[in-house]
Amino acid sequence: MQTDNMILSIQKVTKNFGAISAVSDFSMDVKKGEIHCLIGPNGAGKTTVFKMITGVYPPTYGKIYLKDRDITNLSTSKKMKMGMSIKMQVPGVYSELTLRENIRIAAQNFTEEKMIEEEIERLIDEVGIRDLGNPKVKNMSHGQQQWLEIAMALAAKPELLLLDEPAAGLGPDETDFTANLVLDLNAKGMTILFIEHDMNFVKKIAQNVTVMNNGKFFAEGDLDSILNNEGVAEIYLGKEAKVC
Ligand code: ATP
Repeated sequence: MQTDNMILSIQKVTKNFGAISAVSDFSMDVKKGEIHCLIGPNGAGKTTVFKMITGVYPPTYGKIYLKDRDITNLSTSKKMKMGMSIKMQVPGVYSELTLRENIRIAAQNFTEEKMIEEEIERLIDEVGIRDLGNPKVKNMSHGQQQWLEIAMALAAKPELLLLDEPAAGLGPDETDFTANLVLDLNAKGMTILFIEHDMNFVKKIAQNVTVMNNGKFFAEGDLDSILNNEGVAEIYLGKEAKVC
């Protein structure tokens, strides 16, 4: 059953790899306009859920809906044309090309050639990386490359943006920059779903949090309720612990 305020609905998905069940009977809804975080210990199944959402793997069982449409078995490119985009954890940039050349490659699937220069500059301003100039990617820091990848993901003009560990490997200032960027995009109406281990980053931006453990749904709630949930603390750190 779908409702008007849902942008993404994951319904009882399972992903088996041979005898291994990476995700099992997992359900989650993302509401339009929210910043929703998916957390869980290593191996909980978070990345596999993202790969099913984006079409890297079809689920073994279950259904995924984007804005009421069944997208379970659609290709990644079809899903992107429907308003979804992703920044994966593994860098997807061309290191020998410049910042602008990389954005052009992402933008040319979604923008007419005559408008592309304008679109590249719009994306640079949307992410706030004009000060970087136009370096070759191999000369950019890890954090700068992460922002470039967000600009490339935004080229699809998504309503729903998925970010896989956007704060991984960032220093404190870079983490703040990324947090503010996500808040800005959300303020303009974009829905964000992200996976993250860095709880300081999660605390800065998450409005709603879903917790996975052993491939299954474990808990969901606002940030405070999850941080104070004893069961969540136990799956992370053992009994008597807190998440942070
Ligand atoms: P992390 O936080 O460490 O990235 P995760 O929550 O994203 O972990 P997944 O990467 O989704 O977890 O993995 C969930 C489980 O599925 C793990 O036990 C993993 O080894 C297994 N798994 C994931 N992909 C495959 C695959 N292609 N083939 C076999 N097993 C897999």
